[in-house]
Amino acid sequence: MATSSQTMLRVIEPATEQMLTELPHAGVEEADAAIARAKEALPAWRALAPGDRARVLRAISDAVAAHAEELAVLEARNVGKPIGDARGEIGMVSDTFEYYAGAPERLLGETIPVAGGIDMTFREPLGVIGLIVPWNFPLPIASWKIAPALAAGNTVVLKPAELTPLTALELERIALEAGLPEGVLNVVVGPGRIVGERLVEHPEVAKVAFTGSTAVGRRIGELAAQQIKRVTLELGGKSANVIFADADIAAAALAAPLAVFGNAGQDCCARSRILVQRAALEEFMSELEAAMKSLRVGDPLDEQTEVGPLISADQREKVASYLEDGAPIAFRGTAPEGPGYWFAPTVLCPVSNVDRAAREEIFGPVAAVIPFDGEEEAIRLANDTIYGLSGSIWTQNGARALRVARALESGTLSVNSNTSVRVTTPFGGFKQSGLGRELGPHALDHYTELKNVFVAL
Ligand code: NAD
Repeated sequence: MATSSQTMLRVIEPATEQMLTELPHAGVEEADAAIARAKEALPAWRALAPGDRARVLRAISDAVAAHAEELAVLEARNVGKPIGDARGEIGMVSDTFEYYAGAPERLLGETIPVAGGIDMTFREPLGVIGLIVPWNFPLPIASWKIAPALAAGNTVVLKPAELTPLTALELERIALEAGLPEGVLNVVVGPGRIVGERLVEHPEVAKVAFTGSTAVGRRIGELAAQQIKRVTLELGGKSANVIFADADIAAAALAAPLAVFGNAGQDCCARSRILVQRAALEEFMSELEAAMKSLRVGDPLDEQTEVGPLISADQREKVASYLEDGAPIAFRGTAPEGPGYWFAPTVLCPVSNVDRAAREEIFGPVAAVIPFDGEEEAIRLANDTIYGLSGSIWTQNGARALRVARALESGTLSVNSNTSVRVTTPFGGFKQSGLGRELGPHALDHYTELKNVFVAL
């Protein structure tokens, strides 16, 4: 097992299968050095006046906005995501730093009435925090962790996914230029089993914030438990798009393809189980087929592209295996020929909720249409999964919308929409989709420790 940068990492462009660049692959030694830098930077950063910490975060937000186009192109090329989506995501990164720049001066405590003195609470930083992120939304997910962690006075070590490390390295450079002190944000590019696990096991790391698969999340939870280390876990999903017959079926069908095929289906929030009330199934399927025809799959750098390639050949092989289980293919979109990890968006119908395509996170552009008869059955099917991350409800009946929203076991739901994530609102999973929440004010609870102080009078 390599313990330091003896190997080189080839970073591939999924749309061309060509190498974008080569980087040294870090090991335990580099991870330890980054943790030491973060530890050294901690006292000065947490002692900085809250207004000064806020100013640095605002400067990072401005610097990301100033470099937005180059970051968007880099992300589009490295992940294979459409440039329009990448621009939106980089905009969100800038907004995330701006939003949490409001936090250092608003980390309020409480005074609690007690006998014999004054009791008050403080929100203390945790210390050095290890951040581990996946390859599907590399920079936004990193920023959802970095910004609240730094706002609360912590320092961080970020391990991006091996497949997509480039924008994280750029962010580190941009943040330093914007005035972030050395050692407050440290990016280490290395394998999950080595650098990732070192972050979890290192005694100087107070907490790990992880986004990735449920399998790796479970492993991180097990390792962290040895030291009662704080963890937040944002994991997989198998979300339901529940379409009732009383919905605007044309609108639901128009929105459904990108709710699954956006980011080539490599989205933890993908509404990959489309539950359709049987009375509207025929109308929905014909509208969906029409909507699929206009879906533009192709070059991520083409302004018109809506769906790019998958991240890797391995991912394509895994996704293809779900078409071999016997669920009927209702229709497929198109995909370019030639180099690139392309996969034509595919709709399976009818699928039973017990089929593998309905139970496992495919993480590719494959949708499973599952018919249902009544509201109770829809709720039962939607909840019959180990996951609980996201989902949508389409109906024009307001009471039903709220009734079903309350009944679904999921952290983030939208009605007559496919939105999952906003900077200002909490995001995270029920059940095996995770622990904790990101974004909104709630994320700050996960980057601080609550302290209570009693003063006798
Ligand atoms: P992954 O779990 O394979 O890897 C995620 C990160 O963990 C990578 O940086 C990887 O190097 C690292 N890692 C791998 N093994 C590790 C180990 N043993 N110890 C520590 N770190 C380790 O996930 P992925 O394939 O990069 O991403 C896809 C998964 O991420 C999907 O399951 C998806 O649903 C999930 N995801 C969840 C959210 C969310 O917010 N809930 C968002 C995006 C992606």
